[in-house]
Amino acid sequence: MSGKRILVTGGAGFIGSHLCEELLKQGNDVICVDNLFTGQKNNIRHLMKSDYFEFIRHDIIENVYVECDQIYNLACPASPIHYQYDPIKTSKACFIGSLNTLGLAKRCGARILQASTSEVYGDPEIHPQPESYRGCVNTIGIRSCYDEGKRIAETLFFDYHRQHKVSIKVVRIFNTYGPRMRADDGRVVSNFIVQALRNQDITIYGDGKQTRSFCFVTDLVDGMIRMMNSREDFTGPVNLGNPGEFTMLELAEMVIKLTGSKSKIIYMPLPEDDPAQRKPVIDLAKKELNWEPTINLEDGLKHTIEYFRKTIDI
Ligand code: NAD
Ligand code: UDP
Repeated sequence: MSGKRILVTGGAGFIGSHLCEELLKQGNDVICVDNLFTGQKNNIRHLMKSDYFEFIRHDIIENVYVECDQIYNLACPASPIHYQYDPIKTSKACFIGSLNTLGLAKRCGARILQASTSEVYGDPEIHPQPESYRGCVNTIGIRSCYDEGKRIAETLFFDYHRQHKVSIKVVRIFNTYGPRMRADDGRVVSNFIVQALRNQDITIYGDGKQTRSFCFVTDLVDGMIRMMNSREDFTGPVNLGNPGEFTMLELAEMVIKLTGSKSKIIYMPLPEDDPAQRKPVIDLAKKELNWEPTINLEDGLKHTIEYFRKTIDI
């Protein structure tokens, strides 16, 4: 039992709720701050029964005053349709939200972990992507609010570390999936599973040859907690993701097979700046955190399909 007081911003979201659950299980006192933009009370309802869990509905664009030992900063919409809904707000959540949580970490002397993303690599010219790759990001496109937002957040983290000696940790998360993704989230795994379960057309954007690497959420949460508790002088950034690489066509076919669906695949226009390929190099996480994913895509999809079968109208 580690018994720390831990703040999780974005804790009612998909990844955040799994993180809060695991931190509670490990004997911590967890404070979840979330404005419920994409997060849902349903994700954390089961945690609210615990005396060691508190939920605060709050927007991290405004300062938050709590005392804590550690902060996980996840508050930011992550699905393209959600972060593009109000792109200025997305930039603010990344910039002002990070500034506010870093200020809190400085005041409390708390260690703070940033949920950064593989999107900082943009549409990468180097494959697979190691942490040393500096990325290829469009500054003015429709994904820029998120990509550049996450990049400035990394910059703020490292400046608070150098200038104010704040103890920081930065993880670059690659595509993560699992139970508690929203059915209307718009990301590829939830879209394909929901479409397949409803026997609706499976919507592939572009020719389906673009690749992604998918990490099951429990593996990711394990990596995040290991990173938070790693040695003081290891700041990252460190990639956390599953190096298994799949085309969207392969993913669609796997989902159809695992659901036994009658859905047909249809092709739709590729969104602007959609990265062609993405796969993490995870040597650093293996070496520093003794971490690597344990759940392969087929098994992770089975768990996720089971979740959606129980929770959506079919
Ligand atoms: P999510 O949308 O389910 O979770 C984000 C949470 O942050 C939601 O609960 C939302 O309500 C909350 N939030 C958004 N803006 C806020 C604000 N201004 N103030 C307070 N709360 C706010 O998405 P997720 O997939 O769980 O992503 C969590 C974090 O991980 C995000 O920072 C995302 O950028 C990062 N990430 C996720 C992935 C992935 O594949 N899921 C990949 C890379 C990085
Ligand atoms: N995608 C798709 N059909 C969908 C949703 C997404 O083909 O219904 C594609 C999307 O164009 C991208 C990939 O799947 O190439 C992953 O998209 P997602 O939004 O899940 O994540 P990101 O693009 O941020 O990696």
